[in-house]
Amino acid sequence: MPRISCVPSCKKAENRGRGRVITFELKESGGFGVAEEPGAKQCTGCKRDLSAAAFARDKNRRDGLQVRCRECVAEYSAARYRRRRVAMGKQVREQVDVPAGHKLCRTCGAVKPHSAWHRNATAPDGLSTRCKACRAVQGRQDHLKRQYGITEAERDALVKEQWGLCVICLEADAAHVDHDHKTGKVRGVLCFSCNAALGQFKDRPDVLRRAAEYLEGNVWKPILEAPGVYRLPS
Ligand SMILES: [Zn+2]
Ligand SMILES: [Zn+2]
Ligand SMILES: [Zn+2]
Ligand SMILES: [Zn+2]
Repeated sequence: MPRISCVPSCKKAENRGRGRVITFELKESGGFGVAEEPGAKQCTGCKRDLSAAAFARDKNRRDGLQVRCRECVAEYSAARYRRRRVAMGKQVREQVDVPAGHKLCRTCGAVKPHSAWHRNATAPDGLSTRCKACRAVQGRQDHLKRQYGITEAERDALVKEQWGLCVICLEADAAHVDHDHKTGKVRGVLCFSCNAALGQFKDRPDVLRRAAEYLEGNVWKPILEAPGVYRLPS
């Protein structure tokens, strides 16, 4: 990652990045390089010709775009932030060397290509904070919390209490958080089959009991109590 070596107050900073020495004006001049192709614009930072999408909006500019590309702006503000933190005697996170077109995910600690990020138009670098994989994990956690009111850690603790087994068949892996649809309370963690079976039996203990007796050969028949009055089994 390029380091800007001079103090923030000076007008020119030397940016030694990616094996090249680039000098750019910190005080923006407003001008930008001649576009090589229609819709392309040269970044005053890295001097690359990039599409308009590579630049963040700036209402005060003639073309409505910032003079430096999103990547350069992100690098510059990161460097400025680090210098300020160091000057204040604060701790600075270890700087990770990120190749061009890549970004570090602070959640998983991996450096991944930009394709591994979702777009976020309002972010300085145009990408979301967390990588797609970390966003997906967060999404699952949010789903669990929203749907069942428990965290992933609480679910894991429950599975551990059950020795990892479905508490109905005691054979398959506990995989599905089962909850009472009326109260929303979590009852346990079941395998997919047993969880589906409860649904098929409409979550009714009386139906399930009769099903068990039926399998054992006891077929229920109505008991006639009085003419036209049948007693249901308990
Ligand atoms: Zn640039
Ligand atoms: Zn990540
Ligand atoms: Zn099961
Ligand atoms: Zn039935």
